[in-house]
Amino acid sequence: MTRLGIDVGGTYTKWVVLEGETVVGEGTVPTPPDPDETMTFVASLAARRVESIGIGLPGHVDRDTGTALFVPNPPGDWDGYPVGSRLSALTGAPVTVVNDARAFGLAELLLGAARGLPDVLFAVLGTGVGGAVALRGGILVGPRDNLGEIGHVTVSPWGPVCCCGNRGCVETFAGGPGIVRAFGSGSPKEIASPKEIAEAARAGDGRALGVLSRAGWALGVALGDAAAFFGVGTVVVGGGISGALDLMRSALDKELERRRPLIGEIAVLPAVLGPMAGAIGAALYGRRSG
Ligand SMILES: [Zn+2]
Repeated sequence: MTRLGIDVGGTYTKWVVLEGETVVGEGTVPTPPDPDETMTFVASLAARRVESIGIGLPGHVDRDTGTALFVPNPPGDWDGYPVGSRLSALTGAPVTVVNDARAFGLAELLLGAARGLPDVLFAVLGTGVGGAVALRGGILVGPRDNLGEIGHVTVSPWGPVCCCGNRGCVETFAGGPGIVRAFGSGSPKEIASPKEIAEAARAGDGRALGVLSRAGWALGVALGDAAAFFGVGTVVVGGGISGALDLMRSALDKELERRRPLIGEIAVLPAVLGPMAGAIGAALYGRRSG
């Protein structure tokens, strides 16, 4: 069975072709300027006769109708866009539209760090912070495919304003822009990427270490609460920022340790599928409608 998986991001769009569970083709392109052009691009990939298409979007979607509901970051106006029907009309293949963090979770659950584990929390650290929840071997969905948004758990009600309208969400501390903003707040001239901040922390920069420790704290608070809420004992952390997970671990573990009488031992595992995990998960979802 040949399945195409797409992971549409705010800046880049990634794709994989799965043959069974093996990646036989993959690529990354700048995200096209609007949803129509994105559909045209995906259709060009599907010309190699795929049996199903799964497409992950960074936002809320209606899986039943294949419609984007709230997808603010990629270029163009996605909200209300009929992704599933447009792609099916262009390709003739069955199309599944999912949230990108749920796709990440399914990939790591079936083929990655959480393989064989039934109950798992997933966190994806990137520009935003996404999440997913697996119980009894299945990823939970929610009505707008919005279940598991760990990035928008409040850890500081008077903290920085978040893109969701709330204050002090995990994302404002552990997402890329939040990390950069916190690092730069003491010195406006210094503009560094999260990767550069992690490198500075490894070289012993106290401010960089403090910012990443704060990110770990925020993540630990939210994951500890989520573990209590769902009763799970495993956490998988991935995404572009997770390369700095080791620098966040001490503060993160402290928050989990504080809650140990309630939540027990929690295993925190790094994701293993790398940057294509979202596209792989989208492809795996595609199989279900094909
Ligand atoms: Zn938020």
